[in-house]
Amino acid sequence: MPPQIPTEQKAMVIEKTGGPVIYKTIPVAKPGPDEVLVKIKYSGVCHTDLHAVNGDWPLPTKLPLVGGHEGAGIVVAKGDLATDIEIGDYAGVKWINGSCLACDFCQQSDEPLCSKALLSGYTVDGSFQQYCIAKAAHVARIPKSCDLESISPVLCAGITVYKGLKESGARPGQTVAIVGAGGGLGSLAQQYAKAMGLRTIGIDTGEDKRQLCKDFGADAFVDFKTSQNVVKDVQAATADGLGPHAVILVAVNEKPFQQAAEYVRPRGTVICIGLPAGAYLRAPVFESVIRMVTIKGSYVGNRKDSAEAIDFFARGLIKVPFKTVGLSELQKVYDLMHDGKITGRYVVDTSR
Ligand code: NAD
Ligand code: ZN
Ligand code: ZN
Repeated sequence: MPPQIPTEQKAMVIEKTGGPVIYKTIPVAKPGPDEVLVKIKYSGVCHTDLHAVNGDWPLPTKLPLVGGHEGAGIVVAKGDLATDIEIGDYAGVKWINGSCLACDFCQQSDEPLCSKALLSGYTVDGSFQQYCIAKAAHVARIPKSCDLESISPVLCAGITVYKGLKESGARPGQTVAIVGAGGGLGSLAQQYAKAMGLRTIGIDTGEDKRQLCKDFGADAFVDFKTSQNVVKDVQAATADGLGPHAVILVAVNEKPFQQAAEYVRPRGTVICIGLPAGAYLRAPVFESVIRMVTIKGSYVGNRKDSAEAIDFFARGLIKVPFKTVGLSELQKVYDLMHDGKITGRYVVDTSR
């Protein structure tokens, strides 16, 4: 018997830029030929969702909008062209909802760079609803052994930081500094880094975030608010004092984007992932040149990165620190996030 699909469902809807998000009843969409309909059980809340509410990026969202792009659930319907995924399979709605699969970038597996990419919870409706559409080719495949609640943050935060660590080129035994280490992306970055054999320095603020970094085996923690000199403290936290081999920037403020090139090790790599509104990268030309520093952007991951990041989770290597609230309480999560008060990730349960 195919699953019963209602015609209406609950969703959190943004009707105008700036919010608020409103708990509403909306229709359930039908999947097109190359799409699946996923019954979303849980969805992580990413800081990107807050950027979408605030409209603070130079990329407009659709309106009205259902946000969310860390949606974990079960396939309940599919189009005729979706032949390699079955009803009943576990699936994840991630940021890249679909891409053309034909352009130069898609051909070389850089699907996030596709100019026709559909972005869940931004240019198409996302996972803050009970039933969500995604392209069958892109929906993440989740093994049945995985818990849908705790895996949901992997679908953006996990994939993104895993990709960023790969892009950094850091090798086992080397040190990465994670800037924003106590937040959603940062807490997962520490664990992917550890699983990849790297040493970590956590940079964030407050006792909760310090404790989280300690629990995840950080070799050092630098509190950016109380440190007299972040650059010196980060360098001093490496065994030889020369600084970390790579820096993973997942903070939501501009300042660290202007600091990282100063403390990264000569020949080191700075990976920019966080997207603070209106921010600019700034690095001294002289020191960057004579220290041979690399500065790169890293944007989510392709389908293979996604499968690999999920596999780390499935092998028990990644413990997601999360708290769960009802979908209807999403605005409260945004308020805490705005104030920098979230340690780890919030997940919403779409049944309440
Ligand atoms: P979050 O709010 O959970 O975490 C951000 C953390 O940064 C917080 O712990 C905060 O205390 C910390 N922070 C703020 N200022 C800091 C500073 N000066 N130094 C060190 N830490 C500082 O956010 P998140 O969900 O982890 O997302 C982080 C950013 O990454 C957002 O801008 C989001 O849009 C972006 N993002 C980018 C990609 C991508 O593909 N590039 C993917 C997902 C999210
Ligand atoms: Zn995200
Ligand atoms: Zn393309």
